[in-house]
Amino acid sequence: MSTAPNDSAETLLPARTSSLAPPPKAAPSAVAAQDRENLQDAGDKSAQEASRPHPKPEFPSAKYRLKCHDLTHAGSRVFFQNADPTSCLSKAVATVLSTLYQPTISNSQIPPTRSVTLVLRSMGGVADTGGLELDNDHKQMNFSLDYIKSIDPSTSDRQASEIAGVIVHEMVHAWQWDGKGTAPVGLTEGVADFVRLKAGFSPPHWTKKPGNKWDAGYQVTAYFLDWLETTQGEGSVRKINATLKDEEYDESSFWIRLFGSDVEDLWERYQTSLKESDNKPAESKPSMADDDFWKMVREIRGQAEAIPLKACWRTRSHVKEDTDYSKDDLVIELRRLWSMYLEKLGKSTDPDGEPLDGEVVPMAKDDGV
Ligand SMILES: [Zn+2]
Repeated sequence: MSTAPNDSAETLLPARTSSLAPPPKAAPSAVAAQDRENLQDAGDKSAQEASRPHPKPEFPSAKYRLKCHDLTHAGSRVFFQNADPTSCLSKAVATVLSTLYQPTISNSQIPPTRSVTLVLRSMGGVADTGGLELDNDHKQMNFSLDYIKSIDPSTSDRQASEIAGVIVHEMVHAWQWDGKGTAPVGLTEGVADFVRLKAGFSPPHWTKKPGNKWDAGYQVTAYFLDWLETTQGEGSVRKINATLKDEEYDESSFWIRLFGSDVEDLWERYQTSLKESDNKPAESKPSMADDDFWKMVREIRGQAEAIPLKACWRTRSHVKEDTDYSKDDLVIELRRLWSMYLEKLGKSTDPDGEPLDGEVVPMAKDDGV
């Protein structure tokens, strides 16, 4: 991996001359004049460099390549219709690096991966990733065309989301640490699926349910790691990965040092939390029928204005003629208040997608808003 130079561009420039230095005695030739101009330029640039803030750390970049062994394979068509070959690898790397690392000037905490070649080929299984025999810093990601062909096309985005999800998972293997090869496979696979989960590419068959073992790998371990992020602090998975950089994995001390508990204890607590949430009634969706919503409307707009707003919601089309409000105004205002209510509940979007979709009931005579 190339390290960012600490020395500034100054060292590449001609030596600075003092501005007090006397001009050359001989009549300046055109070349000498040019030299002076260059030196003056260099001096200006150096001053600019010095006053410029330090460069912002950025993640390293790598070369990305794509090989397709069979363009006539049905899986190739699915791939090229659902993935942008020019950006799918770099986007996956950006996702992986931002989940597992924070950039620094030297980036020495990040594996020195220099290139990733995605190979689309007919093969069993889904995908695998490894370093080249001659140079482990160059990775090859094999992705099965037969698998890509088999992805269920019936739901929208499923093919695109599965292809992106597999690439993110595999890309983790190209950029994660593994305790010099000693980390349990279940842990490294769990980290890969954790990153996939956080990227929003979890497939529909993934479920979070009690049972199994912490190092079962894949989504089982991924959800456990996600629980650690919530209960032990954001960045817990980053810490796990960072600890696996320089030292070999030793289960008796690894988890206690990081989280103060044995991994089996943590797993037990996670299991208990799953069982508890299983017994809890499902959280009800916010609705415009919620008393709390109308309480908020009354607080913001006052009782008098809450009445036509509620009537508008209830009838959806009918507003009493003797009000000063047009229906359009009321709908706009209702949407605004509804967004505020959802924001108050910590829900950024309306789960039903349509704020005014509610139960339509005739306006009661004595409206109790
Ligand atoms: Zn994997």
